Amino acid sequence: MEIYVHIPFCIKKCTYCDFLSAPMDDEIKDKYVKALCKEIENGNNKDEFVSSIFIGGGTPTVLKGEYIEKIIYTICENYNVNLDAEISIECNPGTITYEKLISYKRSGINRISFGLQSSHNDELKKLGRIHTYEDFVENFELARQVGFKNINIDLMSGLINQSLKKFSDTLNKVAKLNPEHISVYSLIIEENTPLYEYVRKMERDGIDIRPLEEVEREMYKVTKQILSSFGYERYEISNYSKSGYECKHNIGYWTGIDYIGFGIGAASYKNFGNKAIRWKNTDSISKYLDNIETKQDVERLTIDDMMSEYMILGFRLCKGVSKKDFYNKFGVTLQKKYGDIINKYLVNGFLAENEDRVFLSEKGIDVSNYILCDFM
Ligand code: SF4
Repeated sequence: MEIYVHIPFCIKKCTYCDFLSAPMDDEIKDKYVKALCKEIENGNNKDEFVSSIFIGGGTPTVLKGEYIEKIIYTICENYNVNLDAEISIECNPGTITYEKLISYKRSGINRISFGLQSSHNDELKKLGRIHTYEDFVENFELARQVGFKNINIDLMSGLINQSLKKFSDTLNKVAKLNPEHISVYSLIIEENTPLYEYVRKMERDGIDIRPLEEVEREMYKVTKQILSSFGYERYEISNYSKSGYECKHNIGYWTGIDYIGFGIGAASYKNFGNKAIRWKNTDSISKYLDNIETKQDVERLTIDDMMSEYMILGFRLCKGVSKKDFYNKFGVTLQKKYGDIINKYLVNGFLAENEDRVFLSEKGIDVSNYILCDFM
């Protein structure tokens, strides 16, 4: 089982962000952490073995180090956390200090995930990020000094007016720092964000400021080329790592293991053999502080839903879906359940297979959305 903890606080809202996060005062932060720990205690289950914990947000590192320690100790007291569990914290450059890093280390955190997005300060500014590239490098080096040996850096492609050259420059600079893991997601312009309004205004004025689709496709190709030249392997559509440093927590999501989410908006998923249930905590901080048990969007999944999700998530991984694991999990062969669809895409080269696995080919990745629709 995996645990996700949502910390919905940020110093200031980025222009593109529609995540459940906002700046809030210290009193709310204090109440929230107390409520969070209560929710974790209420879920107490020593029969569950926890393979990973992910403290995400928001910006978890805006909290005092002692709050993060308290959250992790509460989890360890109420669940059986494996000795080799991956324990990650999301961190925004400019929000960590030596003392906070020491406190993370003491509490067992062994993976830091930096949200950097770009190495160019003009691009960071347009995104509304609170930090510069120099702030990030300083924080990254501090994390190394304190002894963190597993660091991820999140980057973005397809930024406003971003050229292929500038994007490649970011990749080269970041890869030279030699983090263990790099994620590269394409910027999505979400409605109801300041960036969305800005892009629409420019479009109304006849100015298109997004990189062209061909440039974005080129960015995707270049990412693999540059990162593989530094020894990173792409193991998922947007994730690259040095050997042995794939993110265990995300692999858990993509392979359908159970997870529990604590905090506002956090989702949970529990498997009961031939059915599963998914639910979410309330999105409202005031409702959560009143009653930590407020749930929403409860969804019951049939075995067909579970098989469909298993395929869609499994194809995100470069190694694809294991025929043996599929049979062990669902008691039916992959060929019997999805043989017609798989064969169609094998024939036209969008899927490939080996003895045990079926996976998207390079040309299949380009049109993965269409292929995955067939498994819904
Ligand atoms: S730091 Fe992350 S969560 Fe916070 S506002 Fe920016 S993008 Fe959103």
